[in-house]
Amino acid sequence: MKIHSFNVQPNLPENIKFLEELADNMWFSWNWQAILLFFKIDPALWNKSKRNPKWFLGAISQKRLEEISNDTEFVNHLNKVKEDFYKYKESSGWYHSNKKEGEENFLTAYFSMEYGIGEGLPIYSGGLGMLSGDHMKSASDLGLPLIGVGLFYQRGYVQQVLNRDGWQTEAYPENDWAHMPVEKVKDAQGQDLRVSIELGKDIIYAALWAVSVGRIKLYLLDTNLQENAHEFRTITEQLYGGDRENRIRQEVVLGIGGVKALAAMGIKPTVFHINEGHSAFLLCQRIIDIMRERNLQFAQAADIVWSTSVFTTHTPVIAGNEHFDPALVRKYMEVYAQKMGISWDEFVSLGKDEPTSATFCMTVLALKLSAYDNGVSKLHGEISREMWQKIWPTLPVKEIPITSITNGVHVSSWLSHEHSELYKKYSFNDRDINSVDITDRNTWSGVDSIPANEFWDVHNIRKDKLINMARLRLKKQLQRYGADATQINKASKILKPDVLTIGFARRFATYKRANLLFKDLNRLDKLINNPKQPIQFVFAGKAHPADIEGKEFVKYISNIQADPRFAGKIIFVEDYNMNLARYMVQGVDVWLNNPIRPMEASGTSGMKAAANGALTLSVLDGWWDEVGPCDFSWSIGGIEHYKTPDERDLVESEAIYNIIEQEIAPLFYERNEDNVPEKWVSYMKQSIKTIAPFFNTHRMVCEYYERFYSHAHKHFNILSDNKKVQDIGERRKVIAANWYRVNITDISPKLETETKIGDTITLRARVFLGAIPAEYVNVQAAIGVRGTTGDLISGQLINMTQTGKEEDALIYETVIRPENSGRQDYALRILQNIPYLPNQYMPLYISWEN
Ligand SMILES: *Cc1c(COP(=O)(O)O)cnc(C)c1O
Repeated sequence: MKIHSFNVQPNLPENIKFLEELADNMWFSWNWQAILLFFKIDPALWNKSKRNPKWFLGAISQKRLEEISNDTEFVNHLNKVKEDFYKYKESSGWYHSNKKEGEENFLTAYFSMEYGIGEGLPIYSGGLGMLSGDHMKSASDLGLPLIGVGLFYQRGYVQQVLNRDGWQTEAYPENDWAHMPVEKVKDAQGQDLRVSIELGKDIIYAALWAVSVGRIKLYLLDTNLQENAHEFRTITEQLYGGDRENRIRQEVVLGIGGVKALAAMGIKPTVFHINEGHSAFLLCQRIIDIMRERNLQFAQAADIVWSTSVFTTHTPVIAGNEHFDPALVRKYMEVYAQKMGISWDEFVSLGKDEPTSATFCMTVLALKLSAYDNGVSKLHGEISREMWQKIWPTLPVKEIPITSITNGVHVSSWLSHEHSELYKKYSFNDRDINSVDITDRNTWSGVDSIPANEFWDVHNIRKDKLINMARLRLKKQLQRYGADATQINKASKILKPDVLTIGFARRFATYKRANLLFKDLNRLDKLINNPKQPIQFVFAGKAHPADIEGKEFVKYISNIQADPRFAGKIIFVEDYNMNLARYMVQGVDVWLNNPIRPMEASGTSGMKAAANGALTLSVLDGWWDEVGPCDFSWSIGGIEHYKTPDERDLVESEAIYNIIEQEIAPLFYERNEDNVPEKWVSYMKQSIKTIAPFFNTHRMVCEYYERFYSHAHKHFNILSDNKKVQDIGERRKVIAANWYRVNITDISPKLETETKIGDTITLRARVFLGAIPAEYVNVQAAIGVRGTTGDLISGQLINMTQTGKEEDALIYETVIRPENSGRQDYALRILQNIPYLPNQYMPLYISWEN
């Protein structure tokens, strides 16, 4: 049987035709008035649509469309939204007034495996996707020239379905792309654009879909095409789906195919941002393109790519980083190694942190070919420098060129509209959240003037909504199991609006320890059922389909709901997604976060909760390590190391019970004559004012721009001159051929035994460079304190100056004036010095005195 399909579009009356345009842009997802517009048309259908306006418009009856087009109030509302939308699209944003010279051609291409932009566009799984989605939205708001590249999954989203035993099963709903806010990309002839990609010995094709995210575009590659053999059609079937072989194919499609797609559309980014290692193969295609277009050799093209690429790592555990068997990599990447003009061994070494590594690591590839590297919180930056030190074996850990840019959230996507209204009235000078500078602390200072009872009322409205949603979800779940009416009735009584409510929602990766709270059930029983200060918990989260231990956690918590001690007081809500996340972060009193330090690279859900006034109870990990012990929230444990995992879990679960019992609950139940917890509300205000202005993606994207993109772009322009690139290449050759002979010896005058602060000390070095000209190196003194590992762990670098000559050696000197008392150490070294590059660390030529 051959089935033919065609699409019927709704026939919108002229005066409301704008709805179609609105439904085609994800802008609506962070503009409450736009959401409200859809909601007004048909609230039940809007909820059923999973906030997908494209599907929604197609499902409204023609009669209802006629009705609303005759409803003056509706049409006025629509016209206001239309005006806002056009104003947004036409205005230029922060970037316009902050851009630097020479940025006429500036454009960043941002690559990520997943994007959480809205629940109507299910191509995300967890925090990484949320971050990419929020990055897009903030780039749009700021007017930053940026485009996204990702994959177009038929099944981009795993739905969690608990069976009667509380065991997690999964459904993989198919995306109905005809009714999603995406648009096929066409070529100049009006045909669907096709990109060809070499995949091992085969050639496959990908089509391209565009998503509008406010002012910017996200392009998604799709291999589900007639012209591909069946096994290739399913490459993009499922997010993180299939075996290792399919995973590497996905990464070839994203990285190689993504770069080719941009070229096919005539888009010429100057900067590439690799968000997590999955897309690192893009570096190879860029090198190939540059070699061909500019007639350069591998090393020269690699210099250009390295100088213009940004890489963000997200995984603080080696095993969690993407590793492949080199044989598998060879199957798909050998053709590219050939095009890059390097041997297979040379290619493989790009993915190894040390020559003996048995696997090819995408993170290492990205680190070796991107000059701007970062972790996603300060602590994660430190961890990353330690984790990847092997790539720069002769560099002290503190100098490893991986910095940190702390994650954030797109505040207006996560703030409830009730809170938004409240802040507008008291803190934003009557302006909308989308028209204030949320990164300015002054924007938030007016939060202090919100009357405590008004604030508390708004909080309770959201809490009621959370409770109602949890009840409704549970009811549906019970109906699915065929439960009887009495049981179903009980679902409408779970959770109490006036009880202290603590939320925990995140992926059930085991390091996040969703089970920590249940370490001592008797203690938990006493805590929850304390008649003076009762407590309830709302949990949600999915385990990875292959993670049996994570699924055990899900089962455990979902079963504990039946324990008479906890029934109605500990609730597990099925199928954690963006929608549920919003209800939770907007409605709980306290957000609980208890990962094993330092395994949570950043975490972002706590930032969402904090913006809505929830207080935090968290381990000092990820972003919370930067807020730390404070007087408006609570930290679990410190930064100590434990002897065993059991000891750690015991100590930290005890800490959770104690803090809740002795500090959180008493504060929550301390009420004034109007039953308002004034002191609690003052904590909420302090928390919002401290957290919201910094832990947001506007600040984060600005940081990426100021610290990375703008520099990478500058180097793009500098290195667009082949002569400069060849210059670098010449120096590199001389350095590589002669470095083995360079050496440095300390010949400083003997130090006074008693040196005082303010005294000067001369450091002097004898340096042998052989055939390397002096201007090709920097002679440096690293001054600091020697740590237990023999590294210099703190201090500074000083460039020494050449003051003389001694036969075939050069004399370098510098004068220092110690400012701290106590022991000081220094080490002398020679570092290559090559102009036009962002730093001197790749490939690294450094010689220490030995
Ligand atoms: C915010 C969010 C996450 C990430 O939260 P973490 O704190 O990083 O665990 C994951 N999933 C959804 C649906 C979210 O909204």
